[in-house]
Amino acid sequence: MPDDTRSTVNNLRPFWMPFTANRQFKAAPRILVSAEGMYYTTDDGRQVLDAAAGLWCVNAGHSRKPIVEAVQKQVAKLDYAPAFQMGHPGAFELASRLAQLAPADLNSVFFCNSGSEAVDTALKIAIAYHRARGDGTRTRIIGRERGYHGVGFGGISVGGIVTNRKWFGSLLTGVDHLPHTHDIAKNAFSKGQPEHGANLADELERIVTLHDASNIAAVIVEPMAGSTGVLIPPKGYLEKIRAICDKHGILLIFDEVITGFGRLGSAFAAEKFGVIPDMMTTAKGITNGVIPMAAVFARDGIYDTFMNGPDNAIELFHGYTYSGHPIACAAGLATLDVYRDEGLFQRAADLAPYFEAALHSLKGVKHVIDIRNLGLVGGIELEPRAGKPTARAFETFLKAYEAGLMIRTTGDIIALSPPLIIEKSEIDRIVETLAKILPTVE
Ligand code: PLP
Repeated sequence: MPDDTRSTVNNLRPFWMPFTANRQFKAAPRILVSAEGMYYTTDDGRQVLDAAAGLWCVNAGHSRKPIVEAVQKQVAKLDYAPAFQMGHPGAFELASRLAQLAPADLNSVFFCNSGSEAVDTALKIAIAYHRARGDGTRTRIIGRERGYHGVGFGGISVGGIVTNRKWFGSLLTGVDHLPHTHDIAKNAFSKGQPEHGANLADELERIVTLHDASNIAAVIVEPMAGSTGVLIPPKGYLEKIRAICDKHGILLIFDEVITGFGRLGSAFAAEKFGVIPDMMTTAKGITNGVIPMAAVFARDGIYDTFMNGPDNAIELFHGYTYSGHPIACAAGLATLDVYRDEGLFQRAADLAPYFEAALHSLKGVKHVIDIRNLGLVGGIELEPRAGKPTARAFETFLKAYEAGLMIRTTGDIIALSPPLIIEKSEIDRIVETLAKILPTVE
């Protein structure tokens, strides 16, 4: 093992780790020191197969040469340019490329630095849009139970994960939640979109009746909920949500932070499901995870509504120091080239049936109570250990890591979302490893 793979970390205390059991981790750290293609290398020199694309973001695989080189070149040429009242070529170029990739007229791209920022940006645009149209009472936002929309105050307010909400006070007012669509009793072991649950969209009508449409700005949902355990939309559900929004003049926002950039076998979930939202939030795969970046896509009518008033007036009082950062733009452009040149979105679509069959071969393995999949996303739900929710999945995660496989777990659900470059033999390895480990988990 070369010396430079050894960890130089000897003081773990100062780094307050996000979404991590800090004391448990620091007692037995898991340190990654390098990555290439489908594999991480750990500080003790082991290769770990990445079945999670990092955190759902490394869609083209790790340390891809064209992206690395584009970043190196850009940092040496233009390290930073102000984002307000100034521009640089990369931001305009990337926005144009993204607009071409997006379905319908989702042509206006507002750059942010994380999914959380993208969500808060979209919520603000929705409210400001109605006001700009002279419909300023439309301020309420409707999210969904078990939705994850990042960790800003906007995102946790519309999100539906109790642990992410309960510590942080009163949150945004004027928010309602649709029921989630997860129903194992009816839909267990569904392949692709489950049959049952489109009727849950009717809850939106009930909420609209309660508040009146004149008070509602937008609905935000993940077209496929990733972080709360791979909840795939029932057949017809998103179409119904779209129709109800249209009927009442409510904007529909798809949070495509996970589903964007090929994860489901098409550029965006909107395309996959044939349902076009008014805005999409994206992040993660936009730069292959290499440099933080996010983007909100808005339809032409939304952008045009703001382009009123005197020419010298700022139309939207919102933005970030690092909106459209030159290095992130360079990474984004190179990433889009890799996706296109290697046909990775189509590759995900082509591999999906193999992935589905492999995953569902785990039916009957100890603890497994549901398996679900779409594109290159899989969810394997385990029966929780009595009195100790999440413990069983976390033990599986630790054992998998020991066995050279990085999975992600959320609650008692294993979420699989490998880079789109994965080979069939590596899909087999993921499944074989889980089949071996699960029976050994208490
Ligand atoms: N929205 C969705 C659907 C996500 O899955 C995530 C992150 O997983 C976010 C928003 C937040 O993104 P970030 O962690 O970049 O703020």
